[in-house]
Amino acid sequence: MSTINIAIDGPAGAGKSTIAKMVSAEMGYIYVDTGALYRTIALYLTENNIADEDIEKSLENADVSLRFINGTQRVYLGDRDVSGLIRTPEISMAASRTSAIPAVRTHLFGLQQKIASENNVIMDGRDIGTVVLPNADVKIYLTATAEERANRRYKELSQKPDCPTYDEILKDIIQRDYQDMNRETAPLKQAEDAVLVDSTNLTLEQSAAKITEIIREIIL
Ligand code: C5P
Repeated sequence: MSTINIAIDGPAGAGKSTIAKMVSAEMGYIYVDTGALYRTIALYLTENNIADEDIEKSLENADVSLRFINGTQRVYLGDRDVSGLIRTPEISMAASRTSAIPAVRTHLFGLQQKIASENNVIMDGRDIGTVVLPNADVKIYLTATAEERANRRYKELSQKPDCPTYDEILKDIIQRDYQDMNRETAPLKQAEDAVLVDSTNLTLEQSAAKITEIIREIIL
């Protein structure tokens, strides 16, 4: 039986993960956050102080896997659950840098395709509709202005100690967008057959409703 695959790509902070979680709960699909895989590689390289010239060779020891516990994704490095450890601004930036390395992308490619071939998934990332699942049943490109994305992230972080300033967050977002959109291998871009959703003026609920409607129209 073939599975249903939905790809959601877009820049950092567009709301992909929150919205994809809401939509997948509604549809009964598994939500796969591929950014967590790149973050885990970045964590592995950082923790082990791997020099740039040794990255390719060291990847054979980077045992990254996903487990789904009650439908919720956890990411493992070896047998260690690193789902919390990978959510820092340093790892965000390191993931964006190391994800440009073709060997890193190759290392994670098969894992993503295998999950999608075995499950009905909503998979979010940067190159899902263009490279990982070019035959996805539905492709969404979810975006918002950099200022609105920074605004949302600032609101989310402002309760926490050591919160970066709005300007620092905006600068990080612009830098990550640039790196992700301008790398040679699998750059972030809208697939030709993806539906564009701009969430700048939408609430999370409105964006999720819109995406659910697009999916239902295409696959039902
Ligand atoms: O989505 P998230 O912000 O967690 O992704 C972290 C980084 O991983 C991104 O900035 C991007 O460079 C990289 N990434 C990627 N391809 C994906 C998912 C994430 O290159 N499919």
